[in-house]
Amino acid sequence: MSEPPPGVTVLDGPVSLARLHGEACITCGATPPRLEPVGHVQIRGEERSWPVAACPAHAHHVGSVPCRYCPAPDPDVVIRVAASASGPDHPVYAHLACAEARGEKPLYKVGPGAGEEAAR
Ligand SMILES: [Zn+2]
Ligand SMILES: [Zn+2]
Repeated sequence: MSEPPPGVTVLDGPVSLARLHGEACITCGATPPRLEPVGHVQIRGEERSWPVAACPAHAHHVGSVPCRYCPAPDPDVVIRVAASASGPDHPVYAHLACAEARGEKPLYKVGPGAGEEAAR
């Protein structure tokens, strides 16, 4: 098994085909009218990568958003939703451990596997 190329996020499977095909949000499985491309993912153990999309709330998550408190990628919770003057509110991401270390209560989990609870 080779290292994924830069920009490709490796996910633990299984991930539904709708998500891999960009027909549903890769993070939560929602199917809003507009999905934004968020790069490529690869299922752990598989060679091929998929161009995927995400709903507006998760469009900046996959492989690109740093933790609020540390430089490591792939935060796994949202600690708050920051209001934005232009456009939709944007979630503030952090690692669960980083948030708890600072007494922050996570709003909800993100990332592969957390989708079903995040979908409403
Ligand atoms: Zn989503
Ligand atoms: Zn962190």
